[in-house]
Amino acid sequence: MLAAGAVSKRIGSRWILHRVSLSVPDGQVLGLFGPNGAGKTTLLRILALLARPTEGQVVLRPAGHGERLLEGPALRAHLGFLGHESYLDPRLTARENLSFYARLYDVPQSDRRVDELLDQVGLALFAHEPVRTFSRGMVQRLAMARTFLHRPSLLFLDEPLSGLDAQGAVVFEALLGEARAARASAVLVSHDVAAGWRLADRVAVLAGGELVLEGPASEIGPDRVQAEYRARAQSAERSRAAWSASHGRSA
Ligand code: ADP
Ligand code: MG
Repeated sequence: MLAAGAVSKRIGSRWILHRVSLSVPDGQVLGLFGPNGAGKTTLLRILALLARPTEGQVVLRPAGHGERLLEGPALRAHLGFLGHESYLDPRLTARENLSFYARLYDVPQSDRRVDELLDQVGLALFAHEPVRTFSRGMVQRLAMARTFLHRPSLLFLDEPLSGLDAQGAVVFEALLGEARAARASAVLVSHDVAAGWRLADRVAVLAGGELVLEGPASEIGPDRVQAEYRARAQSAERSRAAWSASHGRSA
């Protein structure tokens, strides 16, 4: 499971996130939606320990580790992050890139796992081509393979469908499905509400740095998600300005 408790983030004099609290149980996907600039990427990076909150806490408990608290590298080994950057080396081949990460994460039977993923993401024929020759969609497929390679149980997926064709989206869905079946928790950021909602067990809407809606996808349909963030974006923007004015000089 993963959770955020009253997470706030200030950059310069601006509050980007205001007291965001959420939790994602084992085996569930939270779809996180919101307009551009809502703070989705900032929140995801804080949840994935890539950035620190100004206030509030993040709790990460990989499935199967009970109440034991993992920290540092032992915890990071369970995280999978798919962001706007691919974190791939363009000079290396597809296979070399994955083998590098397999070594980094100490993946068991790594050669087999690397081949399995190259096949799964449809890049087996391009395994020995340098990544600099890849199209954007191919890079995204390889980044997807990198993300799932070490079977992470805490997944942070920022616009994972961007650049993917229909077949690529099907592959992503399969990889996410496998992780969910293995009791992983995932936060999936998407601006495509219909596509993201389909993959989510719970949905949340972030607008102007505030969580304005959160609940089960079975109760909150894609139309409501869309309507909610459009309606709230403006008022949240106003309250953010007020928050920044009142908190700007503190700590
Ligand atoms: P989203 O992913 O929802 O589009 P972001 O989390 O990327 O939103 O950004 C939220 C807000 O925080 C934006 O207004 C953005 O300009 C601002 N922001 C994000 N990162 C930084 C940064 N490193 N420095 C200054 N402002 C930032
Ligand atoms: Mg973003």
